[in-house]
Amino acid sequence: MSHSKCARCDHTTFEMVENTPEGSKYQLTFIQCERCGTVVGVQSNENIPALLHFMKDMLVEIMQKQGLSTRYVE
Ligand SMILES: [Zn+2]
Repeated sequence: MSHSKCARCDHTTFEMVENTPEGSKYQLTFIQCERCGTVVGVQSNENIPALLHFMKDMLVEIMQKQGLSTRYVE
């Protein structure tokens, strides 16, 4: 298996740093070189699968209160 390395300095370890880029409303996590700080990846701080499950449960509850079928949601 090959090891990931920084394109700028060839260092092979990385760190995750929370950052809110200028003009962004949301905090993001930068994956960056531990030595020189070059950003190699960005990910959302939100847990999207957990958010989707929460929204599905709320949708089912609303649909059940309205007497609507939830067979395509559950
Ligand atoms: Zn580097």
